[in-house]
Amino acid sequence: MLFRFSIKLKLIWIILLVSLLSIGIGFTLVGFEQHSTIKKKLIESSLIHGRLLALNTEVPLTFDDYEAVSDIISRVEMASLEEVVIYDSEKQVFAQFDRDENNTIDVPKNLEFGATVDAKWIHLYLPIGTEEKPLGFAYLKISLEPLADQNMRAAAFLTTIALLIMIFVYLLAHRLQAYISRPILELAYVAKEISSTKDYSIRAKVYHDDEIGSLTQTFNEMLDAVSERERERDEAEMALTESKGRLESAVKELQYLANYDSLTQLPNRDLCVDRLRSALLRASRNKSKVALLMLDLDHFKDVNDSLGHVVGDELLKAVARRLHTIIKETDTLARVGGDEFVVIIENVVDNYKLLKSVKHVTELFNLHFDLEGCMVHTAVSVGICIYPNDGLDVNTLMKNADAAMYKAKEVGRNTFQFYEPEMNAQILRRINLSNDLRAAIERKELNLVFQPKYNTKSRKVVGAEALLRWNHPVIGNISPIEFIPIAENTGLINRIGLWVLKKACVTAKRFHSLGFKDFSIAVNLSAIQFKQVNLPEMIIDVINEVDYPPSKLDLELTESVIMSDVDSSVKMLSRLKSKGFSIAIDDFGTGYSSLSYLKRFPLDALKIDRTFIDDVTTNEDDNAITLAILSMAKALRLKVVAEGVENEEQLHFLAKHNCGEVQGFFFSPGVNDMALGQLIEENLAVHQ
Ligand code: C2E
Ligand code: MG
Ligand code: MG
Repeated sequence: MLFRFSIKLKLIWIILLVSLLSIGIGFTLVGFEQHSTIKKKLIESSLIHGRLLALNTEVPLTFDDYEAVSDIISRVEMASLEEVVIYDSEKQVFAQFDRDENNTIDVPKNLEFGATVDAKWIHLYLPIGTEEKPLGFAYLKISLEPLADQNMRAAAFLTTIALLIMIFVYLLAHRLQAYISRPILELAYVAKEISSTKDYSIRAKVYHDDEIGSLTQTFNEMLDAVSERERERDEAEMALTESKGRLESAVKELQYLANYDSLTQLPNRDLCVDRLRSALLRASRNKSKVALLMLDLDHFKDVNDSLGHVVGDELLKAVARRLHTIIKETDTLARVGGDEFVVIIENVVDNYKLLKSVKHVTELFNLHFDLEGCMVHTAVSVGICIYPNDGLDVNTLMKNADAAMYKAKEVGRNTFQFYEPEMNAQILRRINLSNDLRAAIERKELNLVFQPKYNTKSRKVVGAEALLRWNHPVIGNISPIEFIPIAENTGLINRIGLWVLKKACVTAKRFHSLGFKDFSIAVNLSAIQFKQVNLPEMIIDVINEVDYPPSKLDLELTESVIMSDVDSSVKMLSRLKSKGFSIAIDDFGTGYSSLSYLKRFPLDALKIDRTFIDDVTTNEDDNAITLAILSMAKALRLKVVAEGVENEEQLHFLAKHNCGEVQGFFFSPGVNDMALGQLIEENLAVHQ
């Protein structure tokens, strides 16, 4: 059963109760009516019998005929008559009759004429003779028992009838209630089903076109609305979950982007600093040591410039992968800058083991990197500092590892350096130099020296290369290798470059005026200068101002400068060439020039880097490379200048293999214009 007191049961009960009440009231009324009618009839018939008795006893009483009176009263034919008493006129008992002879006759006092009724009896008190002058009195006591019996029978009959009616009503109610309760029960069932299954597609059946039917209809409409809202809610929830998911992944991505380098997937500088901070906390608790390795790829810029950024990126990824193979789980490898990586090594026990780990890192770079068929060789400079010896906080340690790394670069790259306190002085020097360089131009601290170039075979001076010098008032002479990068970083290089060009042309012009018309001057151009769109016009302006012939100006550019963007380099070189300048690739062999590109450039000369010339007569590789450059230059019809010739053997070798020109300490280092003038004169004298 669905409910404890179902509507069906309640309806049956209501019908039964109402029927019972109606039958009860009806039957009670009928019973009462019946009872009072019978009672009335009994009283009336008793009165008739009583009066008859009074009439019959009148004569015998007049004659005091006791026998006759007794006879009459004993013969009264009334079934329920109990007692009869006849009084004389003095109200003395004259004769009496008692059906139950054992009882004493007890006549109620103060009876009035007529009938008096109590619970069990009818008492009749009647005058004999006239009422005004009675001869005597008759008292009759009639039992009401027959009436009670009759009542009992009637009640039993009515109860039986009532029971039968109730059974009939029950059966009828049972059948009829279904008409009302079934739709309600079904409605209740559907409501319960929906509430437990949450399936809002269920509908209740409409049975009749009445109030319940309309209720069911409304209920179904309500369900329509609910299921529509459910659908909308589901859609909204789905959209919410979807956007929540998107938000979560966006947050994750943001967190990832904030902490990881997108190229190598390594932790970035921020996360590296966090990890270092945590490592230092652990180390201070455990009284242990942490090593910080700052790695910087050597000549990465050249790879980027000559082979392009795509290859540069591939190299960084490959380096990250290679480094990852030797990193322990407890250590951290991060990329903190363009070509800068950091390794954090925790729980450093002894320096020997640390040294082994560092060597392991540098040895990783012994092998070439194969970048989709392009074999690239790169090395790494590593700076190392140790907590707590070299610093107690993140900033100090990072700064000191950086200083050690710069030192490693300075001492020749492809090596490592442990931090020493004086290293910071070198960084400070760089900062000071960059501040001083600005003033150096105004204070005329910059000047030029000229290194003469000779024809290899004739040993005749053919020209000179202008080399920049900085005579610092405190430090003294500073190498261009140190301050040209500073000039590039501070943006001063364009101003300085123009000054060099003008000064070089002015000097060369003087030699022309002295009659040495074949003399050509070579000027080095930095990458920054080469990127100026109006470079050819600026140079033309200078040489016009000086009235110097463009054909006697050699512009020296390194391989990496022209390889960084081949197409625009070809355009720029063509424009320079069209102005009549001659163009040479400086330090040739150290960069990554692709031979196929080389022939696209409108060049005039190659300058073989002195690192090949140094051991050209003793080292097979250098020998082979130099010969290859010479034969390639011949094929491309390019002039070759060998740099850094320091002895007769080198000169002899170069002459033998048709290297056109040489420069180097064998002949002369860079000298001032006066000394150069003297040198030219002496050379001219020899050859006249
Ligand atoms: P570079 O253009 O390759 O110049 C040749 C360098 O080799 C010069 O060093 C020269 O002194 C040195 N050298 C020449 N012969 C020998 C030799 O026989 N043995 C040895 N050991 N060295 C020799 P320097 O003057 O220190 O210049 C270094 C570099 O600085 C130059 O290399 C050039 O790239 C750059 N540089 C110099 N002056 C300028 C300039 O005015 N503008 C620009 N942009 N760069 C300049
Ligand atoms: Mg040069
Ligand atoms: Mg050079």
